[in-house]
Amino acid sequence: MSANEALKNIPIQQEHVAGAGALHPARRTVQYLTLLILILIPLSGLFRFDMEAGGVVLLDRQVWFSDIFIVMGFWVFIASLLVMMYSLVGSVFCGWMCPQNTASEYANMLTYKLLGRRADMMNMSGEKMQVAVRRKSMLNYLLLGLGLLLPSMLYALIPLLYFFPPSAIWSLVTFTKDPQLAGSLYWIYMVCVALFLLDIAVIRHLMCKYMCIYRVWQHSFKTRETLHIHYDEQRSDHCETCHYCVDSCFLDIDPRQTEVFDSCVNCGECVVACDELHSKSKKLAGPGLLSFVMGAENRHGENRGSVASFFSRAKASSMATVLGGILFVIGIVGYQSDEFSVYRSEAWQGAKVLDYRINMAHKLYHPTNVSFRIEGLNPDVYQLEKNTVHFVTAGRQDVKLHINESLPKGLYRFRVFAKADDGWSGVFNVTHFAPGG
Ligand code: SF4
Ligand code: SF4
Repeated sequence: MSANEALKNIPIQQEHVAGAGALHPARRTVQYLTLLILILIPLSGLFRFDMEAGGVVLLDRQVWFSDIFIVMGFWVFIASLLVMMYSLVGSVFCGWMCPQNTASEYANMLTYKLLGRRADMMNMSGEKMQVAVRRKSMLNYLLLGLGLLLPSMLYALIPLLYFFPPSAIWSLVTFTKDPQLAGSLYWIYMVCVALFLLDIAVIRHLMCKYMCIYRVWQHSFKTRETLHIHYDEQRSDHCETCHYCVDSCFLDIDPRQTEVFDSCVNCGECVVACDELHSKSKKLAGPGLLSFVMGAENRHGENRGSVASFFSRAKASSMATVLGGILFVIGIVGYQSDEFSVYRSEAWQGAKVLDYRINMAHKLYHPTNVSFRIEGLNPDVYQLEKNTVHFVTAGRQDVKLHINESLPKGLYRFRVFAKADDGWSGVFNVTHFAPGG
């Protein structure tokens, strides 16, 4: 027997579940990074709503329904990526990214620290909150109140960032007078703070267990091959007097009996708990009994492995992701930064149409000048209100065009040209019927 073969035959003593030590810090990092990303997305102009324009801002561009490739591509790309994620790793979003869970875990941690381990804020069994006798002090209640109010005030700003420009939110938090600030924004903010406070002070994980429709939606894509908790039943004698993993689960699941459609969010806290218990215990040999697995065992007890399992299930959704990405790129490349049209003005003079309105829309959130030129009409027979309009940011402006009544009777075709400083140009054909003097 060669030395290599002999080495292979030596049993490896595993003392830890692979990666268990890194699970908790990794999850906390992802949770806080998600909050940061949620704040940076609207601030950077990556995605937000423009209430004034009644549209969506994507990559600092105003996107209309007519930008169909961008709209379709974006949603197909995001939706198929999410479907792939649900099918591959289940409700990982809830355990590792969801701001509701992050806030609930933080609120639990603070409550246990200040009022004791049994101080559950709301218990569906109807049991009253049990505060540890030694922790019953005014200072602890005050600290808890402040510790819940401050994050609620921060959380309440996040949804507002998606509906109001960053400059308006800055004026809101610095109490600066700003014409963009509708008086109602302060009320909207206060209502948001009150709702978030109620959520993290009282509701917490009850939202995840009983109210969250998004969790149910994620479940519908789970299969037996989706990432789940595996329990080493062969060593179940270790569990005779132990309940540690169940206590560590904030969703009150027994991790030794997880099922395909249960509420497990793959946070891994039970894996960490059992592994820590085994690494500290002198009686319990080997690594923890719980671990993450992906893929289902076949009839012979073999697991196809995560990569094979992933490729067999994600074919359709990965094709949709690629298609969405292509549509999105086509939309961005063909994006029109400005659009304009010429309407008959509402100011009719009897049955005669003599005035037109050039409606110019600038869709980028940076300044530009747009100049206009008329071709096909003698300059003596029309008046253009102004030749150039200036945009400070995205928006719309009207320019009036008046055709003289003295124009001899007949049908005239003329063209309105528009050209922006940022390189965009467009043309609009108009057919004008002159009734004659
Ligand atoms: S923590 Fe580990 S040993 Fe304890 S009950 Fe859970 S699975 Fe069993
Ligand atoms: S069973 Fe384990 S992984 Fe699932 S939610 Fe509970 S602690 Fe997290």
